[in-house]
Parts: sequence; structure tokens; C-alpha cells
Amino acid sequence: MFDNLSEKLDKALHVLKGHGQITEINVAETTKEVRRALLDADVNFKIAKEFTNRVKEKALGQNVLTTLQPGQLMVKIVKDELTQLMGGETEGIDLSGSPSIILMSGLQGSGKTTFSGKLANYLKTKKNKKPLLVACDVYRPAAIDQLHVVGDQIGIEVFSDRENNDPIAIAQAGVAHAKANGHNVVIIDTAGRLAVDERMMNEISNIRNAIKPQETLFVVDSMTGQDAVNTAKAFNDVLNFDGVILTKLDGDTRGGAAISIKSVVDKPIKFIGTGEKMEAIDVFHPSRMADRILG
Ligand code: GDP
Repeated sequence: MFDNLSEKLDKALHVLKGHGQITEINVAETTKEVRRALLDADVNFKIAKEFTNRVKEKALGQNVLTTLQPGQLMVKIVKDELTQLMGGETEGIDLSGSPSIILMSGLQGSGKTTFSGKLANYLKTKKNKKPLLVACDVYRPAAIDQLHVVGDQIGIEVFSDRENNDPIAIAQAGVAHAKANGHNVVIIDTAGRLAVDERMMNEISNIRNAIKPQETLFVVDSMTGQDAVNTAKAFNDVLNFDGVILTKLDGDTRGGAAISIKSVVDKPIKFIGTGEKMEAIDVFHPSRMADRILG
């Protein structure tokens, strides 16, 4: 994960390792390299610039007060700033409803259906919940089949209605089914499209207004870099969602989406997807991610 970025940051921070003290010149040199590494990782220019300005300011301000070597100090400052940029604290999901309703949104191919299954499996095995999956993609019969396959694989019931082409009615019937059958979590998989469009947005908004979920989550493919951030912004402008799910972090992703999405939409990344298997889900911890990035 983020091998290229880790390597470049390590190289950038190396500049200071041989120096006995922090000076304006070696800080400027280091932060320039840090900025270049972030831009190469597909972090937006403005975010990279603000980030390195903060790092520079902190480094120059802290010099005399620390016992750390300049190299170690710089690593610590960059790590702290990366952690903050990615959200600071870990944010869980709200499971206080009875049932708790979780609405999934995102483009087709982002990994929504896979993640719906992973989340259901996680809540069943780790949180002792009894989830119900609801298939609301009325345009692609294959999507309904896919959710059933996932449900069978993890032993979780899937609610669908192939005769009905109204996703709101299906979502409502799904919630009613959950209540009647003792499910305490309902995960609703909605239809995605290949690009942001008004009809899809309206449909998800209408489902949300009808069922009032505790959590509306936006799923995005981290491999798509700055596009991921732009798509997140478009969805958030309409949906004002509660959290982001970053999928495909196991692939050859450069890291830009993970680093910048929080500061663009001001919503926490809640989980990450790290593979195609149902177990490949992790709670997102900003500081652990910063550790991984810095190697
Ligand atoms: P949806 O159209 O948004 O429902 O997307 P799908 O759940 O069908 O996922 C699209 C493709 O991405 C499938 O081939 C999944 O196996 C794959 N996929 C989903 N999540 C991940 C992930 O975290 N890592 C990897 N490597 N593949 C994933």
C-alpha cells in the first residue's frame, strides 16, 4: 500500500537525518520534497501546499524545545500532520437505531455491493449483530443476484423483490421485514451509475428521506485518485453523507484519495476495503495509516 509515496517521503525526510540542527534552508529543502511526494501521490495541489506550509511552520517553531534529532522531529511532525489531514480520530458507525439503517451510495464498480457484504459480515462476527442486506438496484438484475451470492457466502439474509421496480418501496419493505424478523441492522445497497448523474442522486436522496438511515455511507474506489475526491464532493453536495468507505486500498493505489478526501468533504473515512474477500475490511485509523505511509 502506497509504496511509492512511502519511499519518496522517506527520501525527503532523509535530507535532515545527517544534520545536527534544523535550519530554514534544510527545512525548505525537505518540505519541497515532501510536497513533491504528495503531488506524485495524486494529492490535490492546494492541500499539498497547505500541508507543507504547516509542516514548515511547526518545524521551525519547535526546534529548540525538543530533544529529538532534526530527522526524527521532522518525521514526527509529518506523521502528526498526516494523521490530522486524514481525520485525527477514528470514527465508528452509529448502531443506535432499532434497527440501525445503513444506506450505501457510490458509483457503479466502486465496490458498494462487496462492501455491503463485508460490513454485514463484520457486524455479525465482530459486533454480534443480526444484519439484513437489502437489494435496491432495480436496474441491474445481476446486481440483485450478486448481493444474494454475497449473502449466501456469509450466511446473511438478503431481502429483494424482483417484481418491484420502485427502490423506495423495496427499501421500506426491507426495513419492515427487518423489524418483523429481529434484524437489528439493515444495510441497503443502492444502484450506482458509471458517472454522477441527477437521477441516481435523486433516487438515493428519496430513499434516504423515506427511511431515515442512521448512516449514509459513500463508497469510493481509491485507485481513481483525484477523481475519487471529485466524486466524493459531488455526492456530498447532494447527500451530505456521514462517512466515506475507501475500497481497493490493496491495489496499486498512490494514496491521494486517502490523504485528501477528508479535508475536501469534511467527513470521516470510516472503513477501508483491502481485497475482494469478505474479511478484507478494516476500521480506518488515521494514525495507523500515517504510520504505514511513513513506513
Ligand atoms: P458496485 O458496482 O459498487 O456494487 O461494485 P462491486 O462490489 O461489484 O465491486 C466491483 C469490483 O471491485 C468487483 O470485482 C469486486 O470484487 C472488486 N472489489 C471491491 N472491493 C474491493 C477491494 O477492497 N479490493 C479489491 N482488490 N477489489 C475490490
